[in-house]
Amino acid sequence: MLMSLHTTDICQMADELKVTLTDDQCSLLLRYARLLVEWNRHMNLTAIEDDAGVLTRHLADSLTVLPALDRILAGRPAPRMIDVGTGAGLPGIPVKIARPHIVLDLADSTGKKIRFCAAVIGELGLAGIQAIHGRAEEMARRREYREMYDLVIARAVAPLPTLAEYLLPFAKVSGWCIAMKGAEAEVEAQRAQKAIATLGGSAPSIEPVVLPRLPDRRALILIRKIRPTPNRYPRPSGAPRAAPL
Ligand code: SAM
Repeated sequence: MLMSLHTTDICQMADELKVTLTDDQCSLLLRYARLLVEWNRHMNLTAIEDDAGVLTRHLADSLTVLPALDRILAGRPAPRMIDVGTGAGLPGIPVKIARPHIVLDLADSTGKKIRFCAAVIGELGLAGIQAIHGRAEEMARRREYREMYDLVIARAVAPLPTLAEYLLPFAKVSGWCIAMKGAEAEVEAQRAQKAIATLGGSAPSIEPVVLPRLPDRRALILIRKIRPTPNRYPRPSGAPRAAPL
């Protein structure tokens, strides 16, 4: 296992992203990356575990959302965010380290991934963050989560017509959803227009993002919640994937 990364590598990557981080934040990101690689030896958390991959495809990619997130959350004190299908805590944990004032829920349907996230929270001593084991379709029907979030985010969870039904029910009216996507963003956004409107979202807008050191195209799909989500959504577990709106 490689992991010869140092705090300076993280700080340099942050500079390339034009994200300002303190040395302490870079050091926390490094500790998170080390835990990810360490746990990955015993359980399958991620296919990417080489130094360059962890640095760019996990840490840097997660942080590309910060400019849009800062804009959306400006003026919202103690904003609440949920990372749906967070897996090993991506993008949620890097975002929480970079923006500690956000109150963050990490949600995933796979128990071992949530156990890892909970261990990271404990090891790094992060406050105002919890890891929740659950399916989006079930969680979003519960009063403590439904329409409670300023920002709902997901990376690599499902195509947008399905993902919209996972994400929009969590967002409060006037809150936002961000889907972190690759080259397929525009096509997905077009295909999901009807689903998004049905679920109370605005027309999606696409914001290209640049990931340093990689040629891959990346984009954020931003959706504003403009109306409450009708009570019949999300449909029961499995339905959004089996029959997208
Ligand atoms: N977001 C992480 C990342 O970018 O590395 C993980 C991506 S992984 C490909 C997709 C994750 O979504 C898995 O951990 C899976 O358990 C979770 N997931 C899929 N459908 C879900 C659902 N309906 N509710 C909650 N989690 C879900």
